[in-house]
Amino acid sequence: MQRVQRAVVTGGGGFIGSHVCDRLLDSGAEVVCVDNFSTGHRSNVEHLADHPGFTLIEADVTEDLDVPGPVTLVLHLASPASLPEFARLPIETMLVGSAGTYNTLRIAQRHSARYVLASTSEVYGDPLEHPQKETYWGNVNPIGPRAVYDEAKRYAEAMTVAFRQTYGLDTGIVRIFNSYGPRMRDDGRVIPNFIAQALDEVPLLIHGDGEQTRSPCYVDDTVRGILALASSDIAHPVNIGNVEEISVLELARLAREAVGSASPFKHVDADLDDPRRRRPDISRATLELGWKPQVSFAEGLRLTVAAMRQARQGLSG
Ligand code: NAD
Repeated sequence: MQRVQRAVVTGGGGFIGSHVCDRLLDSGAEVVCVDNFSTGHRSNVEHLADHPGFTLIEADVTEDLDVPGPVTLVLHLASPASLPEFARLPIETMLVGSAGTYNTLRIAQRHSARYVLASTSEVYGDPLEHPQKETYWGNVNPIGPRAVYDEAKRYAEAMTVAFRQTYGLDTGIVRIFNSYGPRMRDDGRVIPNFIAQALDEVPLLIHGDGEQTRSPCYVDDTVRGILALASSDIAHPVNIGNVEEISVLELARLAREAVGSASPFKHVDADLDDPRRRRPDISRATLELGWKPQVSFAEGLRLTVAAMRQARQGLSG
């Protein structure tokens, strides 16, 4: 395992990225966070402003940029990541996966740094294989409503592999499955949406029959997996996610219970191309990184509800 000395974290002002910045700084590394705050919030990294190891560069990674000083790791997390956000920013989503990946690979190349691409379970599309192993090539609609995100990430993976093959760059690819936890926005993703609806005592909107499944992974576990991959020299994609598979209907029940709300459920139209089943095979992460999730869904949900309550109090206080 290598020790990270100075990391560039693109998308470091976002949900997962800000937790990555926290953990890296805790480990003694320096962090350069690059974000244009198109979907993330400054408040996610405000607490780091006075940290001597933290630098914030407000920039768009689809434009060429360099980072002064040494760099030992580049973590490319910048990208809109929820359906409403990549529907609002379709071209930007394609560009951050294409030009953004190219530009950040070039930063790693200039500094001979390790590079880790944050990819996604969405590269498997609506999977025909279950659970999903890294060897599965996926079932993606290239012109559907999720295509800008799914195809950008598939392109980004191919670009990352091309840099490794062409220049011998030390690269890794982490395929993240639904992560949740504090600092998540109720931006259309199912868990914060249900919690927000339960807190507001309005109906919890269930898309379709609610029998579709997700495997939510608490953000601390996700970040531990990302950083384990970053500290390794593993080149092939690694799934990081929880194997606890829960239907959307059950997620709604648990979220309502955790909030202590009496909100009813309301079924609305299913999202087009919404994956029916989603569960990672994490044998690779377990065998090669010694990683597995540690936080149960009940505990993660309790922590997320508490954080969302606190954030609302902060807004109204
Ligand atoms: P997020 O939207 O909270 O964070 C993304 C950050 O990237 C934001 O702060 C945004 O402002 C920034 N960004 C977007 N475009 C940019 C650009 N062109 N230049 C600079 N900054 C830019 O999303 P997240 O949930 O934290 O996701 C982080 C990464 O992890 C994304 O790459 C996403 O695809 C991937 N991922 C997340 C999940 C999940 O469950 N959250 C699952 C799979 C993959």
